[in-house]
Amino acid sequence: MICKICNKEGARIRQISRSYGEGDELMVVEHIPAVFCPNCGESYFTAATMEQIDLALSEKGRRTTSRRVPVVAFVE
Ligand SMILES: [Zn+2]
Repeated sequence: MICKICNKEGARIRQISRSYGEGDELMVVEHIPAVFCPNCGESYFTAATMEQIDLALSEKGRRTTSRRVPVVAFVE
């Protein structure tokens, strides 16, 4: 597919996980299709994907499962 940032062919979809919020409000969204471009090194979500993320977060509860995961704090 064509990269929206550099307009070159070669961008690919890769599924990633992203976390939203912090502390008790932390939510992880899995299997998000992100566009990765090997030409310019950028990665981004399409507008449709961003809408789906918003929807997934607002439907919290219905589509949520809980799992214990290790959380690492970044220390400078
Ligand atoms: Zn690009």
